[in-house]
Amino acid sequence: MARYGMAIDTKKCVGCMDCVVACKTENNVPEGYNRDWITNETAGKFPALRQEIRTERCNQCDNPPCVYCCPTGASHISDTGGIVMIDKNKCIGCKACLAACPYNARFVHPEGFASKCTFCEQRVIQGEKPACVEVCPTYCMNFGDLDDPLSIVSQLISKRPNHALLPPAGTKPQIFYLT
Ligand code: SF4
Ligand code: SF4
Ligand code: SF4
Repeated sequence: MARYGMAIDTKKCVGCMDCVVACKTENNVPEGYNRDWITNETAGKFPALRQEIRTERCNQCDNPPCVYCCPTGASHISDTGGIVMIDKNKCIGCKACLAACPYNARFVHPEGFASKCTFCEQRVIQGEKPACVEVCPTYCMNFGDLDDPLSIVSQLISKRPNHALLPPAGTKPQIFYLT
């Protein structure tokens, strides 16, 4: 079984927000909510400071507290490459998962269920790339199987310096930022 993840090149991201718009359209994300967003952070140590622009979303954690805390089993790890998914029919909107996620990646949909990035599972099972990856004009996002050493994501992560977000949280994020 695959383990899907992303390798995102922070040197190529220009913060254009095309990924945010594509996600909203592809996934019918309601007005006022986002599954992905842009963060602008100053990284490094003076005098070698640099600006890191990141496109962020659910990190599809390998040790996901949002799944463990869910009282109904709505939040679960899917058979599709380990993607963390939410079964909206089982969700009671209790927000336990929102509180458990250290990345603030979830929101409650106006219809009452928790929602977040799904790695565009509906596209991935058809052999397509996630919408955000597909539209990026600088090709900064790479999506693929982290368990395959020959995949583009595995190759990039092994060859380029990279970091995940909030490693001390212990969630084992599956999105890696190339620096
Ligand atoms: Fe869960 Fe948050 Fe990790 Fe996504 S980023 S899998 S919502 S803990
Ligand atoms: Fe589970 Fe829904 Fe509660 Fe989140 S809001 S913990 S998915 S029941
Ligand atoms: Fe949105 Fe899909 Fe990208 Fe996740 S992978 S941020 S759901 S477009």
